[in-house]
Amino acid sequence: MTTLVRGAWVLTMAGKGRLRDAAVAIAPDGSIAEVGAWDELRRRFEDSAVEGDGDGIVLPGFVNAHTHLTEALIPGMGEDATLWDWFTRVVGPTGAVITREDVRIGTRLKAAEMLLSGITSVSDMSCHRNLGSEASLGAADGLEEMGLRGVVSFGAEDVYPGAPGPELFLAEHEALADRAAAASLLSFRAGVGTILGISRPLLERTVAACREHDWGVHTHLSEVREEVVASRLEHGLTTVAYAAQQGLLDRPVAAAHCIWCTRRDLSLMRRREVAIVHNPVANMILASGVCPVPALLERGFVVALGTDGAASNDNQDMFGVLKTAALLHKVSSLDPTVLSAREILELATIGGARALGLDDRVGSIEPGKRGDVVLLDGATPELATIHDPWQQVVYCATARCVSDVWVDGIRRVRAGRLVDGDVRELAREARAAAVELVRRAELSESALLPEPELL
Ligand SMILES: [Zn+2]
Repeated sequence: MTTLVRGAWVLTMAGKGRLRDAAVAIAPDGSIAEVGAWDELRRRFEDSAVEGDGDGIVLPGFVNAHTHLTEALIPGMGEDATLWDWFTRVVGPTGAVITREDVRIGTRLKAAEMLLSGITSVSDMSCHRNLGSEASLGAADGLEEMGLRGVVSFGAEDVYPGAPGPELFLAEHEALADRAAAASLLSFRAGVGTILGISRPLLERTVAACREHDWGVHTHLSEVREEVVASRLEHGLTTVAYAAQQGLLDRPVAAAHCIWCTRRDLSLMRRREVAIVHNPVANMILASGVCPVPALLERGFVVALGTDGAASNDNQDMFGVLKTAALLHKVSSLDPTVLSAREILELATIGGARALGLDDRVGSIEPGKRGDVVLLDGATPELATIHDPWQQVVYCATARCVSDVWVDGIRRVRAGRLVDGDVRELAREARAAAVELVRRAELSESALLPEPELL
């Protein structure tokens, strides 16, 4: 049966962008049949089910374009650390012992958090050093079980003592690509954890495999200043220039951060149509810097938004990302007009879809696209009075306003609760796995916290 999702506003993120007293018709095959005025759609689809009382806001599902589901079980640690310090103390030790089952369990928990904050598509880069375990496949397992759309990748890095040769890394890329191909809503990209963290032989093999299999790339670029300094010392080039020289940027690339790019870096990336994923919350927690989003948009870059990993955000709440992005650019430019609420929402929807090569399917509400749709409840303290729906979503709404979520036309959230799965049960499962993971990684309290000052 066709479902009509009705709102006081439908933010289509296409064409005019917003429709008043309108609805979206989701066809039984999961596609969007029509979007338009409520009266007209009610007449046309008279036998359809109706969801929404006409007071809320309907919008495309958010695209979380960068996260690390391998961090799902280790949030809330290392608030005092910058990137490299945080990695050494928190992420590295757990990454050495994490298993596919740990990642699957953590992914299920974070998938619940994402769905309940209106995220319908996610691009994951699972990072670990437990080679041979194929732990990254756990993210695909968990996403498929929870019904999210996703692009999965394994963030390979081999610059560390005792790292195996390239074969095991390539084998995991291929295994993950096969796993994604077996799931209807998943696709695959080759992950390059960081440019500095990968040896030249593995990078060359990765680029060759991308050419052979027609894989896109998911990586981090120019995240912190130390990275660019170290790259100049090692390669005589910035990380962006080195990645371009190695041919990595000739693939479709989604690059997280891009905070410390030179003018030449930006030209290199723009020519190659590299998409940039801005992760404002993680950048602020780790004190990494400010990605120049307004300047990137002026240059014509595709820009998306991401939460970044559960250990560097430290949640997967897209509303927090929207508002933080808006506020960060206002305060860093001292210009309240620098990015409009509509522009912020574009980054979180159609911008994300373009960055991941999914814009033929999702990112906007248009006939023929897939039914990835979110209904925000108007009967909430945050959305009771809607003057400007763009600003209302970015500055007023929270995940508490998410009433219903459809992914590929299947309802995954109903009246603010998961349709399949119980959050208490997911939490119980994750809690036990997290305790065990931290024990295996030997993360002691002193590894997480600075030594107390002796007075
Ligand atoms: Zn990241």
